[in-house]
Amino acid sequence: MKKATHQQTKQHNRDLVLRTIFASESISRAELARVTHLTRTTVSDVVSGLLAEGLVKEVGLGVSIGGKSPILLSIVPDSRYLIGLNLAQDKFIGAVVNLRGEIKEIVEASVQDDNGQTALELVYRIIDQLLKKKIKPVVGIGVGTPGLVNTREGLVVNAVNLDWQDLPLGQLLEKKYRIPVSVLNDSQATAIGEFVYGGGHVSDENLIVVNVKHGIGSGILVNGRLFQGDGGGAGEIGHVVVQENGALCRCGKLGCLETISSARAVLQQLKVDSLDKAQSAFDSGNANARQVVMKAAHYLGISLANLIGTLNIQKIVITGDMTRFGDAWLDAVSASMQNAALSRLSEETRLELGKLDYRACILGASAYLLLDGYSLLFKKEI
Ligand SMILES: [Zn+2]
Repeated sequence: MKKATHQQTKQHNRDLVLRTIFASESISRAELARVTHLTRTTVSDVVSGLLAEGLVKEVGLGVSIGGKSPILLSIVPDSRYLIGLNLAQDKFIGAVVNLRGEIKEIVEASVQDDNGQTALELVYRIIDQLLKKKIKPVVGIGVGTPGLVNTREGLVVNAVNLDWQDLPLGQLLEKKYRIPVSVLNDSQATAIGEFVYGGGHVSDENLIVVNVKHGIGSGILVNGRLFQGDGGGAGEIGHVVVQENGALCRCGKLGCLETISSARAVLQQLKVDSLDKAQSAFDSGNANARQVVMKAAHYLGISLANLIGTLNIQKIVITGDMTRFGDAWLDAVSASMQNAALSRLSEETRLELGKLDYRACILGASAYLLLDGYSLLFKKEI
């Protein structure tokens, strides 16, 4: 028993040190000890192990604060790889990603009117193709899928588009590929992607990322961790009713936010088959297109006000297809948000556009393993 506890402590220390090195560009052993509250001896021991495993390297000298200049440590980006998947509306995209979120290989496949089994086989096929590229070692797989997901169990509870109900996707993939797998809702994965790799967010601790595409969802990060709520559905703002007796939503309710503010809703109302057409009508000043897009922005702003009132998170990133309507759309979202929220709270809230487009979901799905699954990912008997 005593030995197990000792092992656990070692594993915990290793996770903590690795996570801290990952979070910074480069860091000295002394700084690691200060941040992790571990002793310098413990830090040195753990670092020696990580150097031997090739996960960490020494990258030069830092600034001396009296005495010798400290040696800086950094993650070795290409020492391990992850696979990230974005199961988007019309196509599935998979990529091999290194530990710094650089995409090494990418594979896409368009989704036909598939049933659940063909959709699953398409996931296998993409992973198989990526593994054939022989970029090694791949140590984990992260999947961002539409729908309601139980991440702890790796279970896709319900994804209407893909015809998946209670699909144990995580288990299936772990069994087939024998590496750790995480399954996340696509908007939650997108949120992690923007948070970790979108530039300048990691120091914020709290962030909301709202994904406005054919559907609408959001991901919420609290203290640098994804907040999923009790049932995994935290951030599912798309299926909250905002208009009584409104249009029929694909979830069966009337007047959900998605029926007004999503790209799908805009296409339906403008009776066009592509966002390019919708955008050119909007850009040329077509009155109907302006009205539909501005109404979409207005209702989205009200939903953001609700998020602000509930969470008071001061930075909101918006991403997805609807951002193509540019400043006019974003300004309308912002104005409506300011109108609907308590002024003191909304004045301090910044809206920004996402930086990673479709890559955010891929990168976030893989980075979830880095944020929450170090011990899982780099499991090692010590
Ligand atoms: Zn709905």
